[in-house]
Parts: sequence; structure tokens; C-alpha cells
Amino acid sequence: MYDIAIIGAGVIGCSIAKELTEYDIKLAVLERNIDVAMAATGANSGILHAGHDCETGTLMARFNVEGNLMFDKICQDLDVPYNRCGSLVLAFSQEEINKLEILKTRGVNNGLKDIKIIKKDKIYKLEPNINQGVMAALWTPTAGIINPYELNVALMEISKANGAEYYFEFCVDDIKTIHSDKKRYFEIYSSKGDKIKARSVINCAGVYADKIASLAGDNSFSISARRGEYIIFDRPSPVNRPVFQVPTKMGKGVLVSPTVDGNFFIGPSAQDIQDKSDKSVTLEGMRTIKAAATKTMKDLPYNRQISIFSGLRAIPSAQDFVIGESVNNFYNAAGICSPGLTGAPAIARYICQHIIQKFGFIKKKSFITKRKRIINFKSAPNSQKIELIKKDIRYSNVVCRCEVITEAEIVEAIKRGATTVDGIKRRTRATMGRCQGSFCMPKILEIMSKELNIEMKDITKFGGDSYIIAGDIRGENYDKKS
Ligand SMILES: Cc1cc2nc3c(=O)[nH]c(=O)nc-3n(C[C@H](O)[C@H](O)[C@H](O)COP(=O)(O)OP(=O)(O)OC[C@H]3O[C@@H](n4cnc5c(N)ncnc54)[C@H](O)[C@@H]3O)c2cc1C
Repeated sequence: MYDIAIIGAGVIGCSIAKELTEYDIKLAVLERNIDVAMAATGANSGILHAGHDCETGTLMARFNVEGNLMFDKICQDLDVPYNRCGSLVLAFSQEEINKLEILKTRGVNNGLKDIKIIKKDKIYKLEPNINQGVMAALWTPTAGIINPYELNVALMEISKANGAEYYFEFCVDDIKTIHSDKKRYFEIYSSKGDKIKARSVINCAGVYADKIASLAGDNSFSISARRGEYIIFDRPSPVNRPVFQVPTKMGKGVLVSPTVDGNFFIGPSAQDIQDKSDKSVTLEGMRTIKAAATKTMKDLPYNRQISIFSGLRAIPSAQDFVIGESVNNFYNAAGICSPGLTGAPAIARYICQHIIQKFGFIKKKSFITKRKRIINFKSAPNSQKIELIKKDIRYSNVVCRCEVITEAEIVEAIKRGATTVDGIKRRTRATMGRCQGSFCMPKILEIMSKELNIEMKDITKFGGDSYIIAGDIRGENYDKKS
């Protein structure tokens, strides 16, 4: 019997797991996918929002501002790269300047101190490549950028190191509340019929959190999906920080932003969709974000466009995060749309405090507080590169040439739990460069086959039937088939 089962291993589930594993708790994390960061956490803008967008008094505003301030420590402890580069919201007309004033007042009411409206000369010093015609901008120095999937991986690794047990490909299908001998607990069933017992459940199931809540008897909210599409470009970035336009009813609008890895992107769009699994990228979506981004920057280098993707926001019916205990011992961390990435550590702390108080769990005498990321050979100083190669010759074998990722890094990612090509990608950046894996994929498959002791044809991109190899075209079976 587990004390607690968390459903969903996105940034929210794993942040809560990190907090709870500092206590003497038997904890399970149940995830329907084969890895972490495969839903909203793996496909978002990666902005640590300052906190001027959310209506004052909402949970969104509270956790945004609190969470933002927690990232310096978290990123240091978990060795996750981030950059507090600030953000700008541009105004091109007097009407938009009026909207900036509203945002500024809201930011101040939400607790932001350094938020201000700046004039042209300062704006163009900060961002020389944006279009002419900007009249003013809202400047928030506490905003930043982070790699969301690396954060998610780091949170899983540290919570695992502190005792959390992760069950992947465990799609929760049913929850039964059991009352026996004055004990009350939950039986949680997977779609394959596996069963986990836990005294308490925390629902962090993203767009499916309404379904999970209703399995436990909580029908108080629903979640709809809003798709956001992106275009990502190769380095260098023409902007130094996220550059927003004034927000609309559908969200914060299309932005131009660098990533912590030096690329940049435009997006996201905002389209309400019925199918919660539809992460397709559409011609209409591409046209929308291109047209909108042109307002910020005219000559975007589309010859350096390297990928397109989309993510699904979990929009709660009540227009605010759904956080806290609903039915007895069943907790929701649901409807965590933007700024949920920023709010994650504060949401986790809040939920954890409530559970600790209720159950009286005791803090462990010792637990692991630091985690190191996989050594990035490319950014290591030359002296360290030589040492690394002396220790492990596989550091001299560059597999992904665009991102300069070595065999040793890929092997380390596999040791840390990557079982798919996307798992390697999220942990090392292999295949994320300009060629998007066209050259290095066969080499990566060879390494995975050897390290995981599986046949290359059984390797998938992201689990399920996403096989990379469709069949033989040459080689030993070529003559027989032709
Ligand atoms: C386009 C877009 C842009 C965004 N930009 C930002 C931003 O710049 N800054 C910011 O702060 N926030 C941003 N967000 C919001 C942020 O991404 C989310 O708030 C955050 O990722 C939510 O994390 P989560 O763990 O709740 O959800 P998810 O990452 O979706 O994780 C939920 C997990 O639950 C699992 N699950 C679902 N059903 C089941 C089941 N039945 N059994 C087991 N597991 C299940 C899923 O597989 C998934 O892994 C953005 C979101 C989107 C989509």
C-alpha cells in the first residue's frame, strides 16, 4: 500500500513528488506515457512569467508570482539551465499603451516590484531587431526562460533518488474507494488491469484531470483543450528575451522568444479543440502565428526554420487552477494551464503542506537535495574535454553533429532512464538541431539497441507504435523480399 499515488508525471506531478519525497512517505507516480514531459510540459513556451497577466486574487496569480521566485534555488539545486532575462510586452498604439497600464497595475497588485513601462530608446537598446513603430513596452526583469522538459526530467530524477516509484505506461482507467476495517483507501486500476493501492491520490493528469476526478466522484469541473502551435528556428536568436504583444481574450498572444539553448521560436496560436489527443500542426495555425509574429519582427529567417510542434493547454471550466482536496483524501492539481510551468514549485509546496498537516508525515533525517545534469561535452572547457575523453573514449565519438552530442552523453541518458529516441532528445538535445536527426538517427538507434539490448526495429520515437524502422530496404533480407 502506498501512502500517496500521484497521477500524471508532468511538471506538476513531478514537482509534487520532489516535495513529498523529503518526507517519510511511500510514494508512487503513475504515468500513462512511456516517459515524463510528453504532454503540456514537453510543448510550451518555457517562459517563467513574472505575473502581470493573471487576474488579481486568483490562484493563477498567486502561484505564478510565488513560483517565479522559487526558480533560482530550484535551478541551482537541480542543475537546470535558466535565464532571468526579463520580458517585454510591446505597444504599437495609444490603445495598446492603455492596455500596458492595466497590465502594470495588475502586476503591482499581484506583488511585482520592478515592473515598469519603458520608452522607445530603452526598448531598442534591449531589442534592436524588433520592428520600428513600437511606442512603449512593459518591462518585467523577473521574467525568464527555462527548458521545461529538462526541468521535468530533473524533478523525476531527484524524486526517484529520494524514493519515489515511477510506473510508466500506467494509464489510470478506474479508481475505487475502499472502506474496510475502518481503513479508507483507493484502488487505482490501469487500462491493462494492473492495480495500485494508496491512502491518498493527487490528480495531476493535465487535460484528462476532469476524467480522473470524476472516477473518484468529483464532478465539480471540466477541462477543455486549447492547442498552441509553434515554429522553431535554428540559432542565433534575433531577440534576447521573450517579446510579447498585448494579450487577447485567448491568452498571452504570439511571442518571439529565445530558448535557453540559443534557438528561438514564434508562437503559440490558441485554438479550442474537441479531441484532447490532437497535437497536429495545421496550415492555418502556421499562417496565424506567422502573420501575428510579423507585427513584432518583419524579416524572420524562415530559411532557418527547423521544426514545428504543438502543445495542448488544459483550460479549466472555472477559469482558474483547481487545487486542493475535493473528496476525502483525493487532491486535485488540475486545470494547470499557463502560467502552470512557472507556478509548479509553489503549487507543489502548497499541496505538500496540506498533505503533511493532514497525515502528519515526518521529514526524513536526510534526503538528496542536489542533482547534476548530464555533462554537455560541447560546452565543457577544453581541459575538461580532454579529461572526459581519457576517462571514456565515447566522448570522442560525436553522434549528433548539429548539436555536438557524443556517444557518452547518449549512453548516460539511457542509463538515466531514456528508452525512446525522444527520451534521448529531451535529455541530451541529440536530433534537435538543424537536420532534426536525419544524419544521426541510425547511429542513435545502434547505440540504443546495444545499451538497451533490444533490436533496432523495436525502438520507438515516443512509445506505442511509433517505430522508427518500418522494414528492410537493403541488407541481408533485401534479395529475399525483392
Ligand atoms: C502552448 C502552451 C504554452 C505554454 N506556455 C507556458 C509558459 O510559457 N509558461 C508557463 O508557466 N506555462 C506555460 N504553459 C502551461 C504549462 O505548460 C502547464 O501549466 C504545465 O506544463 C502543466 O503541467 P501538468 O503536469 O499539469 O500537465 P502535463 O504536462 O500535461 O502532464 C499531465 C500528465 O498526466 C498524464 N496523464 C493524463 N491522464 C492520465 C491517466 N489516465 N493515467 C496516467 N497518467 C495520465 C499525462 O500523460 C501527462 O504526462 C503553456 C502550455 C501550453 C500548452
